[in-house]
Amino acid sequence: MRILASILIVATAGLALAGGVAYFTQREGIVQRIDERLLAQVEAARVVANGISGAEVGAAPTTPAEAPATTREALRAVLASVVPGRGEGAVGLVNGKVAYIPGVPMEIHLEESPEFIAQVAEESVDGQVRLGTSVSSALGYLRYVSVPVLVAEDPEFGVLVVAVDVRARLADLDAAFRTYTLVAVGALAVMALVGWFVAGRLLSPLRRVREAASRITAADISERIPVTGRDDVSEVARTLNDMLDRIDGSNRAQKRLLDDVRHELKTPITIVRGHLELLDPADPADVAAARDVAIDELDRMADLVDAIGSLAESASGASLRREPVDVDDLTADVFAKASVLSGHSWRLAESAGGVALLDPARITQAWLQLVDNAAKYSPAGSEVRLGSSRRDGAVEFWVEDEGDGIPPGAEERIFERFGRVDAGRGIAGSGLGLPIVKAIAEGHGGRVSLGSSSAGSRFAIVVPLPSDDVIPPDAAADGMAGSTVEGAS
Ligand code: ADP
Repeated sequence: MRILASILIVATAGLALAGGVAYFTQREGIVQRIDERLLAQVEAARVVANGISGAEVGAAPTTPAEAPATTREALRAVLASVVPGRGEGAVGLVNGKVAYIPGVPMEIHLEESPEFIAQVAEESVDGQVRLGTSVSSALGYLRYVSVPVLVAEDPEFGVLVVAVDVRARLADLDAAFRTYTLVAVGALAVMALVGWFVAGRLLSPLRRVREAASRITAADISERIPVTGRDDVSEVARTLNDMLDRIDGSNRAQKRLLDDVRHELKTPITIVRGHLELLDPADPADVAAARDVAIDELDRMADLVDAIGSLAESASGASLRREPVDVDDLTADVFAKASVLSGHSWRLAESAGGVALLDPARITQAWLQLVDNAAKYSPAGSEVRLGSSRRDGAVEFWVEDEGDGIPPGAEERIFERFGRVDAGRGIAGSGLGLPIVKAIAEGHGGRVSLGSSSAGSRFAIVVPLPSDDVIPPDAAADGMAGSTVEGAS
């Protein structure tokens, strides 16, 4: 409504302005032509008057050398030559009284308005040609010229008056303008109608979006807004649908997590409960065994709760605190922590060098998780290698072991929550380690790469290094987060 109203207001103003300007210019032109015509009449009268007798028209009387003539004679001759056109009238006055009228039919009869005659007679006593305007109820709106007609030595004072009815002359223009007004009003009405229809059609998708959006409730967000076409409104619908997809996805993920957690907690609870039920309180050995089982299971539950907390935190990504980190220092740090784990021989194979923008605590956590897995799932005494390297604009923090590897087909499952291979092959674990590593890598815009064979596995956290994420070590040492590109080493 508002858009339409503003368009109509502007269109109305535009049409009115165009029409008004056109009307008044035309009108000015017509009025000017009326004056020209009246002055031409004066010229014609002058020629006629001079021609017959040397009478002077439109000027102070002079003494003609030729045969004298009377004022009346001159006036009569002049009037005889006047041919009034459409909406015109003429009259000859002698000493302020109507003395002659043209012998042809006229559309206006000046002689019928004594007031007009009196006004013109009074005005012309000074003997000047005068162009004037008269508005009266009897004659309407007139433009007239009064021309003194004088003959020397004749005391009589003649005046030729020619008048034009301005309204009659403007009649055509007025009619045209009335037509224009009608057409303009019609055009505005059509504009309003078409505008209303088009606006309704354009905005109807928006109405559908609103209706669909109001049907989508927190309980059921499966409905999607229908997207038709490629206009802005469809873009809005598409964006809303994408948003709903994300909300839906995260709702589902939350629900799955709850299901998984419930399932995972059920097992230790059942085990502890079974042991307590079968427990013989009189048998100290039985009590001790049940106690050990209960503590074990409770520890497992505590680990599980910690892992779930860690996973939730990593998955949100918001908790990342990126800073310029010296990759060599980070590598040495993690290696130092890994190498104290017993049961394996540890080797630092490679260090990438340079500086990267990342959250060192999170990367350390993820990397140590890979270290822990390598230690868990490879034979005791075997070598575990770790290192950092640069490849294709990314830095990799990797761990390589000599374990049995990941069986083909299980590569995806192990990254899912609680996903384990053969229930961890008898090795304790929650199945949440790799999902946490994955969430941390993805929080850094990266991924976890896996290369595995029966001779061992290589897990790597791949963190891409956009050119402006890499700054020279000197700047990092000064605590500056800069944007200088450093050549890959
Ligand atoms: P958890 O170790 O608690 O079971 P993870 O998510 O860390 O959970 O690992 C999921 C599964 O992936 C493990 O149960 C294990 O079967 C397999 N896995 C992980 N790391 C290795 C590895 N280095 N070598 C062989 N298998 C592995």
